[in-house]
Amino acid sequence: MNFNRVVIKVGSALVAPDKNGCSGKYISAIAHFITKCHQANKEVILVSSGSVAAGRNFIRHGSPIPSIPTKQAMAAVGQMKMMDNWQRFFDVPCSQLLITHGDLKDRERYINIKNTLRILLANGIIPIVNENDTVATDELKVGDNDNLAALVALVSEADCLFILSDIDGVYNKDPRSNADAVMLPEIAEITDEIYAMAGTTNNPIATGGMKTKIQAAEKAVENGIDTYILNGTNSQ
Ligand code: GLU
Repeated sequence: MNFNRVVIKVGSALVAPDKNGCSGKYISAIAHFITKCHQANKEVILVSSGSVAAGRNFIRHGSPIPSIPTKQAMAAVGQMKMMDNWQRFFDVPCSQLLITHGDLKDRERYINIKNTLRILLANGIIPIVNENDTVATDELKVGDNDNLAALVALVSEADCLFILSDIDGVYNKDPRSNADAVMLPEIAEITDEIYAMAGTTNNPIATGGMKTKIQAAEKAVENGIDTYILNGTNSQ
């Protein structure tokens, strides 16, 4: 483990995989990895999606694609479920930071976030960051937790970023519809061609897709933060 401080972004498809609220199916192994990191004196910040997915069953909605206010209400109830779901796998306390891109753009709020993260980490507490979905309309629509994770890696001065979802990495075409798709084990430079390969998500639970992961990787790598796009369903 060649890092000292890592930001691990965990997608909704891992937190609430069966479209039916939270589950420990995949996150128990991720939590185990985080505990191992702690034992090796590494610091870990989690950026967890899944509040909307976790809250889905609690809010009545007629359409398969809920409105933004309905999603925001789902996030409000699901956030607690999602936090509970993480905490049950740790002996150390978890802490909740709900932030938006706007918070990170404001100097004073940026410093507050930075200081809070520093003190939490110094106390062995696991910071769990999510978008403040009830106020962040645009982020909620775009599924921007990938980009948020890159920004959290910057504010926390992390040296590594893991983006975990249910896909193995970046392929030259969509592997779900092209049997001959080839995974790119390493990307030296993020070009327009790489973005063109990324496509969008097919998973109704996930929001971002590969495009936002590449955007996040671009932001992080530009700032010297090694970035890995990994399949979190393989860690069971
Ligand atoms: N913040 C949203 C949630 O927790 C998800 C956004 C994303 O996955 O990028 O449900």
